[in-house]
Amino acid sequence: MKVCVDLGATNIKSGLVKGETLLKVASTPTDTSHGLQGIVASLKGAIDPFMSEEVRAVCVSSAGKIDEKTGKVIFATENLPEYTGFDICGFIKQTYGLPSVAINDGLAALLGEIAITEEYKTKRMVMLTFGSGVGGAYAVNGEIKADESNDHAHFGHYIIEENGLACNCGKRGCAEQYLSGRAINRFAAEAGIEKDRIFAYVAAGDERAQAIFLRLKGYLVKTLAKIQETSPFDICLLGGGVVDGMGDTLEEFAAGLGYDVRRAKAGNAAGMLGANYFGRSLL
Ligand SMILES: [Zn+2]
Repeated sequence: MKVCVDLGATNIKSGLVKGETLLKVASTPTDTSHGLQGIVASLKGAIDPFMSEEVRAVCVSSAGKIDEKTGKVIFATENLPEYTGFDICGFIKQTYGLPSVAINDGLAALLGEIAITEEYKTKRMVMLTFGSGVGGAYAVNGEIKADESNDHAHFGHYIIEENGLACNCGKRGCAEQYLSGRAINRFAAEAGIEKDRIFAYVAAGDERAQAIFLRLKGYLVKTLAKIQETSPFDICLLGGGVVDGMGDTLEEFAAGLGYDVRRAKAGNAAGMLGANYFGRSLL
């Protein structure tokens, strides 16, 4: 059995996994008020309850840029203070004497979808996550792919509008400025619609909401066309808070785009299941 962990800036989900099945799950708040010491204490607190002699490995999905070969944190934002440079796999080895793997949470989310869907294991898969920003991941035949040309971390910063809105990455017209939760809130405000109700208005046939909806579809098509150039894919999965908020309107959102676009299904467990899949060679 393995302990699988999904470390975010707000909470740490952890669970016991047998084969590919999640048996028990817990959620621990992430202590970010005491720097790295607090984060590490939270991580240990998330793992400890599941530790037993039957546990043979630990698989970690984590926020931040992670070196998947070494299990070290290459970069984390101030949401996880002092976390940059932390050696996740070194800590697991030292504390529990167990082998481990660590992978970025966006990549783990895609692997989580692949883990629960047989068809995806032999396809070229893209995942876009629409939250406060736009995250991305790319995998071919169940393996994460990233090189200079198809750096999935940058899908949200592919330029879809020439001379478009300024982005915090320094460029203009990035997909993130048009498809993130923040962007959609802005469109809603411009149209005088309550931001949390926008997809309910779409479903109810409100013209202003439907106009925004069509604009969003247009932005998604442009983003997918750009991704297809660098990272050819068969299926694109959509996930994240914005997509959850779309409810049944997602089917309409994904239809008629000229690409096979589907909803991500693993939900809250995606990170843990993806880390488990990434560590599948550890028995
Ligand atoms: Zn950008």
